Amino acid sequence: MARIVKKFGGTSVGDVDRIKNVAKIVKEEYDRGNEVVVVVSARSGVTNELVARAKAINSTPNDREMDMLLVAGEQETIALTAMALHAEGVGAVSMTGGQAGIKTDFAHTRARIVSMECEEIEKALQEKKVVIVAGFQGTNDDGLVTTLGRGGSDLSAIALAAGLKADICQVFTDVDGVYTADPRIVPLATKIPEISYEEMLELASLGTKVMQARSVEFANKYNVTFEVRSSFNNNPGTIVKQEVSSMEDVVVRGVALDKNQAKVMVGNIPDKPGSAAKLFDALASANVIVDMIVQNLGRNGVANMTFTVPRDDSERARVAVEKVLEELGGGEVTLFGDIVKLSVVGIGMRSHSGVASTLFSALAEAKSNIQIISTSEIKISVVIDEEGAADAVRIVHTAFGLDKAEA
Ligand code: ADP
Ligand code: ASP
Ligand code: MG
Repeated sequence: MARIVKKFGGTSVGDVDRIKNVAKIVKEEYDRGNEVVVVVSARSGVTNELVARAKAINSTPNDREMDMLLVAGEQETIALTAMALHAEGVGAVSMTGGQAGIKTDFAHTRARIVSMECEEIEKALQEKKVVIVAGFQGTNDDGLVTTLGRGGSDLSAIALAAGLKADICQVFTDVDGVYTADPRIVPLATKIPEISYEEMLELASLGTKVMQARSVEFANKYNVTFEVRSSFNNNPGTIVKQEVSSMEDVVVRGVALDKNQAKVMVGNIPDKPGSAAKLFDALASANVIVDMIVQNLGRNGVANMTFTVPRDDSERARVAVEKVLEELGGGEVTLFGDIVKLSVVGIGMRSHSGVASTLFSALAEAKSNIQIISTSEIKISVVIDEEGAADAVRIVHTAFGLDKAEA
């Protein structure tokens, strides 16, 4: 007998027929004699709709109330999924994140899991029930509901797999697995059979939406091997696991595009020790996460500092910087919301040269002007204009030999 966690994302529970399909997949597993714990997301679009409704009522909604609202999406789908299993004659019980024992810290809307207390699930499994858990949510020590950041049902599934010592964790979505690039942008992208945690984490952090970055971090920490696969067919998916040496043979595993970026340029700041510290201290106090940073050489006593921030935070960044400019002794802020970050990722970069030159030549061919560059051991990222970025991704994908052979 195996213990299996199966997570179904928004499109996989998007309507009545999709929920019936989930029940069919779960029943097949249960009928094989296995223990099954199911994690579901809200129906696709529901969380976005709830966020929009909150913002239409109050442009800066309170985080506690936001969590109270957002958990409703998953609460609907756990009950419906349990009902669909009952209709199939399978004993199933739904649980909220709190009932399932997912304990978090107090950071509403981006809570971190602090412990997993899985007794209730264990009890239900012993009674031969399928357990359906609401993804994306937990409770804090005050008993209040919290959410785990957008895409957080992936994290619920990985954490449950770790807490329950499951044999397998499967993440069902609307694509066959993790591809060499978003298949919606690059029709010639190919499915990656196996990928290391490190590469998956970089891809996810750099805009590849198929897995939430924090869930991959958690899987790496607790060594949870998982599979990303489709709920629309029975094709084998992508296995995400500990690195093995043959993985280094591939130089670039995938190309990522992050559209949720904005560039902030702070011009004519006095070029003296302490300016950067004051600037970034102001941004940190405003809870703005800064990513790529470049500073040009100071000239005539002034310098320019350019950096990227999540697009939703760009106004907050501007306000924070403007407040500190007087203290710095001058300068002006300009926002650019029409940029993206394109990245290539692969652990093979550690032992292969020429990645930067291939990338830059491809971007030249795509007529994309490179505005900022940053590198780490296993990735190179560039900031380019949003216009033409999809073409750039396709050309970069071809340049690294990732296109599937045409039939
Ligand atoms: P779910 O609702 O199941 O959680 P998501 O919408 O969060 O699904 O993630 C699946 C989507 O991720 C796909 O529809 C696809 O467009 C997008 N995606 C982006 N990059 C990739 C990639 N490299 N491989 C696979 N899917 C990707
Ligand atoms: N429903 C949540 C979201 O849309 C969590 C998830 O789907 O993983 O972000
Ligand atoms: Mg998702």
